[in-house]
Amino acid sequence: MGLIHKQFLSGNRIYGCSGCKTHLATKDGVMSTAFQGQHGRAYLFQTVVNVIEGPPQDRPMTTGLHTVRDIKCCECYQVIGWRYVKAYNEDQRYKEGRYILEKELLIVVS
Ligand SMILES: [Zn+2]
Repeated sequence: MGLIHKQFLSGNRIYGCSGCKTHLATKDGVMSTAFQGQHGRAYLFQTVVNVIEGPPQDRPMTTGLHTVRDIKCCECYQVIGWRYVKAYNEDQRYKEGRYILEKELLIVVS
């Protein structure tokens, strides 16, 4: 594993880690705000930065079986959501490669 160079985002609204304010995503990258995480409401993002991915795991969800990787903040290692690797149901395929961040674990940085 190499060194992680933190990226700084710019835009209208930047979401950061609630633990350390590391930039994670922007409002422009939000695909949906109607997802369910482990801690309640969660957002689906097109892309997320400054995270470390865990090993792939199969996880049954209300929308069917998915392979996901948990994602952690690269600064404080708090688990803040997951990335969809594979969706087994055809109509869930749009989520592949996308990220879920828990609303509870996000703060608006700017
Ligand atoms: Zn953090």
